[in-house]
Order: sequence, then structure tokens, then C-alpha cells
Amino acid sequence: MDHLSKDARSRLMGRIKGRNTQPEQVVRKYLFSLGFRHRLHASDLPGSPDLVFRSRRKVIFVNGCFWHGHRGCRRATLPKTNAEFWIEKIGRNRARDRRTKRLLEKSGWQVMEVWQCELAGNSWKSRLVKFLRESPDVRAKPR
Ligand SMILES: [Zn+2]
Repeated sequence: MDHLSKDARSRLMGRIKGRNTQPEQVVRKYLFSLGFRHRLHASDLPGSPDLVFRSRRKVIFVNGCFWHGHRGCRRATLPKTNAEFWIEKIGRNRARDRRTKRLLEKSGWQVMEVWQCELAGNSWKSRLVKFLRESPDVRAKPR
């Protein structure tokens, strides 16, 4: 179980949540500037993906490295206190992410993940555009 006090917990969650919403905005802004139109948080889809491109049948998840357990990433280093709790917690998150991806792909969606740490560089941008353009159904031409 979690041994943190309620206050400590909410401080931690708050801080991490704050960090995690910003990366999503970076991705959204970039795509918007290119003219890609998308829906946010489609709750009817498994995992309620961060960005949804229905006509392309593609979804994008912007993953915070810590919560989603980015392998080999220094931002994903688990706290040493309550190690077991965190290992289990993040392990569950990873398993859920895998399940979600499988479910989406099974119903014909293509899934891409962008990691928070990638946003420090630029290579995610071309990866993203390539992912979105690779489709027989390209309607919205980027400006
Ligand atoms: Zn990372």
C-alpha cells in the first residue's frame, strides 16, 4: 500500500500532473500550427487517447515518463521510498497502456506514443507528421 500521507500524496500528484499536461499542449500546438485537426480525449475509445484523428483512424498518446514508466529514461526513476508501491503502481500503468494499445489496434486504430522527454528535442515532430500523413485517407493538407 501507499505509505505517503494524504497531503504528501496530493502534492506529488499535483506536481506530476502539472508537468504532464504541458507536454500534451506542446504537441497540440504544433499539430494545430500544421493544420491537423483533432479531437481531444475521446472517452469512447479505450484509454481515452490524448489526441484523436477520426478520419485517419489514428490516435496519439502523450506519455509522462514517470507515470507511464518510460524504459531507460531518467525521468522515470522511481522514488526510493515506498519502492514496492511504485514498482507495482507503474507496472500496472505499463500493463494498462499495453492493453489499451492492443484494444485500439484490434479495432483498426493506429497508435503512436510521444514521450515527455522527447519534447526537449525536435525529432518527435517529423515522426508525428510522418505517422499522420501515412494514410490513404489524407484530407487535411498541412498548410
Ligand atoms: Zn522519457
